[in-house]
Amino acid sequence: MSKTSVSRLARELKQFLAAQQEDDLIVAAAPKAAAMVSSAKTEEKQAPQVLFQQPVETQTTSKIAHSGDTLTIEFRRPASVHSAPILQEDSSMMTKSQKETALKELAEKIKNCSRCPLGSTRLNAVPGEGNVNADLMFVGEGPGFDEDRQGRPFVGRAGQLLDKMIVAMGLTREQVYIANIAKCHPMIDPSNPDKHGNDRAPNADEIACCRKYLEEQISIICPKYIVALGGVSAKALIADAKSLGALRGKFYDLHLDQVTLPRKVQILATFHPAALLRNPGWKKDAWLDLQMVMDKLGLKGARK
Ligand code: SF4
Repeated sequence: MSKTSVSRLARELKQFLAAQQEDDLIVAAAPKAAAMVSSAKTEEKQAPQVLFQQPVETQTTSKIAHSGDTLTIEFRRPASVHSAPILQEDSSMMTKSQKETALKELAEKIKNCSRCPLGSTRLNAVPGEGNVNADLMFVGEGPGFDEDRQGRPFVGRAGQLLDKMIVAMGLTREQVYIANIAKCHPMIDPSNPDKHGNDRAPNADEIACCRKYLEEQISIICPKYIVALGGVSAKALIADAKSLGALRGKFYDLHLDQVTLPRKVQILATFHPAALLRNPGWKKDAWLDLQMVMDKLGLKGARK
């Protein structure tokens, strides 16, 4: 390849790279480019091949240079550019009254829903409740016996413990939003809704059917942080099949399937209050989890 050809190729590649606006491509780095030029030298008529690689984060910016027969091409993403979709902070947040209206309409849809078999055995659907402008949202698995009767989330014994956990964080139930993955009561024996101890976690089909309601709810409220209560909730929202023990202890960026969030929402997994009632020894670990959220929210008593 002549020096003129190398210059032309460099020019064309510069134009091509500029057109990409540094989105997510990396063109062959120096060693590969040099090898391509060397190969092209013996096959003048063969069109130059350009290899695309997965982007990497680096401080290096785009650079094209040639020296003799060696064409060096570097095109790298600046470290500040993230591969995840960029969420515009608060750019399309609803007003309080818009949120209230949207959640009311959503609750009506849920109350009339029969997308999965739980719709035919529930006494009351349980959409969720709380502060529509909450920075913190708790998401459990599904309503139980008491919730089915009252149409409200976390009002039984587990709910009383959740209330205590919220107060220990320096908040009130009215300051947060509380919901479940499934909005209707999953029962072990649906033919006997009056039986105590008949609760179960929602199965994968029920979660998939009901997911759109929770996603819509999260996008309307758009809290800064979500605490997933229990393994079923954590796995569904973090989209990871790992055990609760493996998911705990770190924040994850929330990515929803069906709606776009107007700002970044992070999620942390901890134990379900019902599990804490059965295993009081886990409360210490649950408290450590909640302190991580308190730290993020700037609440007093957070562990530094
Ligand atoms: S659990 Fe969800 S999807 Fe199933 S009937 Fe109730 S609201 Fe509809």
